[in-house]
Amino acid sequence: MHWISILAKTLELITLADKKTEANKGKEFIEKGIKAMRFYHIGDLLKRTDKRSSGYLRSVAFNAYYLGSAASVLSYRQLLKHKDIHYKYEGSLQRWGNATGSYNVNLYSYRNQDKNSKHKRTYFAEYTINTRMESEYITITYFFGRKPKKKDLTTAYLINIVSSITEDKETKFSCRHCGKTIHWLDLKGDLEKKLNLWQDYNCGCKKEKA
Ligand SMILES: [Zn+2]
Repeated sequence: MHWISILAKTLELITLADKKTEANKGKEFIEKGIKAMRFYHIGDLLKRTDKRSSGYLRSVAFNAYYLGSAASVLSYRQLLKHKDIHYKYEGSLQRWGNATGSYNVNLYSYRNQDKNSKHKRTYFAEYTINTRMESEYITITYFFGRKPKKKDLTTAYLINIVSSITEDKETKFSCRHCGKTIHWLDLKGDLEKKLNLWQDYNCGCKKEKA
């Protein structure tokens, strides 16, 4: 499956009834879009995985300061603007991980409204994907407790992928080369390597194609 469709599935993409033309993007569109915006805290993303996987991914997310995701036809910036919350551009990164697209990922931050919040500012990485029809743009947002590095974005992306595949995929699988049953966390390598082997049903006995 193409990574965008995996991601689209993960985030249960939001669609609005009347989003066909730019002309519709008035106040009503913004208000509807904000209502339809979905947030996925790290706990939501990991609720379908087994205990071992969610424990591991929680610690990986913690180290990357990754907090969760959002998906909407509106960007999170539009929501902040609507709420009169000032945000700051923090730079941009080009493609990351094994994502096949060449999407720019823009980074922004805003001051946390809750003074008791652990982090002074919330950082978010935003990029847009073009779905089936040209007029359908979905903005994917990843939230962080500090300014994310490229590595942290990869982590967030991979956690979203694991979240989407654990719904219909066992966390243990039989290797398609030698038949050995293995839990994906017993595969060698970092999160990205483990995930690649798992998606290929390879316990590691067969070298991956370069
Ligand atoms: Zn094997």
